[in-house]
Amino acid sequence: AAAAVGSSVIPIVNKLQDIFAQLGSSSTIDLPQVAVVGSQSSGKSSVLEALVGRDFLPRGSDICTRRPLVLQLVHQPRRPTDAEADEWGEFLHLSGRRFYDFREIRREIQAETDREAGGNKGVSDRQIRLKIFSPNVLNITLVDLPGITKVPVGDQPTDIEARIRTMIMSYIRHKTCIILAVSPANADLANSDALQMARVADPDGSRTIGVITKLDIMDRGTDARNFLLGNVIPLKLGYVGVVNRSQQDINSDLSIKDALAREEKFFRTQPAYHGLTQYCGIPQLAKKLNQILVQHIKTVLPGLKSRISSQLTAVAKELAVYGDPVDSKAGQGAKLLSILAKYCEAFSSMVEGKNEDISTI
Ligand code: GDP
Ligand code: MG
Repeated sequence: AAAAVGSSVIPIVNKLQDIFAQLGSSSTIDLPQVAVVGSQSSGKSSVLEALVGRDFLPRGSDICTRRPLVLQLVHQPRRPTDAEADEWGEFLHLSGRRFYDFREIRREIQAETDREAGGNKGVSDRQIRLKIFSPNVLNITLVDLPGITKVPVGDQPTDIEARIRTMIMSYIRHKTCIILAVSPANADLANSDALQMARVADPDGSRTIGVITKLDIMDRGTDARNFLLGNVIPLKLGYVGVVNRSQQDINSDLSIKDALAREEKFFRTQPAYHGLTQYCGIPQLAKKLNQILVQHIKTVLPGLKSRISSQLTAVAKELAVYGDPVDSKAGQGAKLLSILAKYCEAFSSMVEGKNEDISTI
């Protein structure tokens, strides 16, 4: 299961979104997009994979991500009879075909990358769009982007760095985009491409989370404690340090589950990170993201509530004209809307800390 599942907000956000989906597109909770930025091989794809909890992205020490991958996570209820088949991927360019084998998803990303950008390290700004259907995810969009490189290799044009920067900027400049600025701990943070670009796109740092990868391979005698505490480059939303799988782990097929267990042990046993629990590990990153999503929902909720109540009034009028409260479309709409209104109420009180348990409604 995905690390991102851990928080209690997910069930209610999913319920809200499911009900909105049934009501049609007029009222929806648009969750912000999350994009990763950073230099090549800083660990961006690894972080996204760990957040989703499945292995399916091309990763490696070379340039692997060569086209933007727009990854739309689609929550769907668990089907008790058919546990194997309730998670799958579907590409826009192969619509209708379900990929149940996540290794095959990775192969298709690679093949589709080659089709557009060639087989020799070329980069393209044409998106690959992939939907992942799963009971373990939130309806949210994650964007995996090529990393910043400085020296052209293979078929890359001489202005490769500028092109990639423009491509990244076209995603992260949007005010609704949450930026995961990924910097490896074994390079100087002051030289971080990720933090530099994030600062240009988000000068007041209100939507940038710093992610420090590769804590396991820092120089002996050094640690990232001061980075994580924001003593080196302060960030309003702060930093999370993580340990992803190394190339050797990938080659030997170490599972995400085992990698998460190892990461947990790393932070538990390294004295440098004692007392920094909230700054360490993929589960903490998932938690931080969730807090930001809750905050976002909190800001859009008043507008949603008033839309719902005006819809409710309209439907009630319609009902008064046609009667038949149970079977008519209007009757069903009214029922949905009143459920939705209840959820909104519950959600506001949960966000305000009055009600922890929303499962009772
Ligand atoms: P990207 O280019 O930023 O998407 O980076 P990838 O996720 O493809 O990772 C690049 C390489 O770094 C891969 O070989 C990963 O195994 C390795 N890597 C990523 N994160 C870590 C980490 O936290 N520790 C170690 N040891 N290796 C990592
Ligand atoms: Mg990548």
